[in-house]
Amino acid sequence: MTSTQELFELGNAHNSPSYGPSDAIMERGQGVTLYDRDGNAYLDFLAGIAVNCLGHAHPDLVKALQDQAATLLHVSNMFYTEVQIRLMERLTSLSFADRVFLCNSGAESVEAAFKLARRFQSTVVGKPNKTNIISMNSSFHGRTLAAITATGQPKYHKGFEPLVPGFFYADFNDLESVRKLVDQDTAAIIVEPIQGEGGVRPATPEFLQGLRDLCDSVGALLIFDEVQTGIGRTGTLFAYQGYGVEPDIITLAKGLGGGVPIGAMMATNRVFEGFVKGSHASTFGGNPLACRAALTVLDVIERDGLLENVNQRGEQLMSALRELAADHPTIIDVRGRGLMIGVECLDTHAAEIVNACRDQGLLVNVAGGATVRFVPPLIVTAQDVESAVSRVKQALEEWTSKQAA
Ligand SMILES: *Cc1c(COP(=O)(O)O)cnc(C)c1O
Repeated sequence: MTSTQELFELGNAHNSPSYGPSDAIMERGQGVTLYDRDGNAYLDFLAGIAVNCLGHAHPDLVKALQDQAATLLHVSNMFYTEVQIRLMERLTSLSFADRVFLCNSGAESVEAAFKLARRFQSTVVGKPNKTNIISMNSSFHGRTLAAITATGQPKYHKGFEPLVPGFFYADFNDLESVRKLVDQDTAAIIVEPIQGEGGVRPATPEFLQGLRDLCDSVGALLIFDEVQTGIGRTGTLFAYQGYGVEPDIITLAKGLGGGVPIGAMMATNRVFEGFVKGSHASTFGGNPLACRAALTVLDVIERDGLLENVNQRGEQLMSALRELAADHPTIIDVRGRGLMIGVECLDTHAAEIVNACRDQGLLVNVAGGATVRFVPPLIVTAQDVESAVSRVKQALEEWTSKQAA
């Protein structure tokens, strides 16, 4: 058998150098546990970066995908399938939206949102110069050219210039800085209700409401990028529902397919007047396999009361982490909503603590440079959370004693 080290080197010889995976090679998963090919088990509180909301190998998802694979995988948007229609009906019935553009990833859903916003302003409102898009510093919106342009972090822009014209940056949670940029040429404002990659930073309710009011005052569209916060992650199906502020456009991906790639951009009938036949499309968009996965995810969330679980387990995890923070001065903040929790650490300690957690068999990662991110599957039990917390505690103790040595 090829050794894991050899296989890892083979991967590194052929993989895009833009990735730098860990040296564990993952083999299978079951519930909240991930196993590598050397038989090590990990408690997975990273969940494929907030993707595997039903955990690994969830029996309902496995069965649905097996059935769908044996029935129909793909037909293109030249035809409907019932499963696609059911998914669009379901997503709109659960939100403010009337229509859905189905795609395959978060970045594509963000691209679709920008295209819809600009076309809405030019063709429906009749203002072809109303094209500016305002996004937030320390945001993340994906890796296509328009998505990195909207991403308010220079490190994602470097070497890829020229960026897409018409983008401007304000400070997150600073309404005044947004107000300075908003005018009659503003087509849209895009914001994550909780910045994910930026370090798990929740917007204040006043900020989101203020953005809503600013948009209304100049006829701009408010886009909530819920690629990470959507599908139950924060304790309501969509984060906007927890804030009580309704956007005009919402973007989804990550958790939507429970691990099967799918994205969605949703809006009202009025906003979707911006698209006509041929305006935008995706070959794989609405793929029956992906739609079946998403429908199953939504079914299980509802049937098993997972939103309640997210709130209870989220509180449990948050308060346990806050207790640990009291004993560990490197932890300077614990924040988030539901099962999207960040533990901000001093200096470069977050990366070291993530490694120490892995040594304890707990998978978490660094977001925004200084924050340890916890985004476990929505199915975690009280016992899983207890186990994770005791591993974090152990990791912090080992890390602390290494610091002292
Ligand atoms: C992950 C993420 C994206 C990008 O999604 P991809 O599927 O990687 O293209 C966009 N927006 C937010 C808020 C995200 O967290």
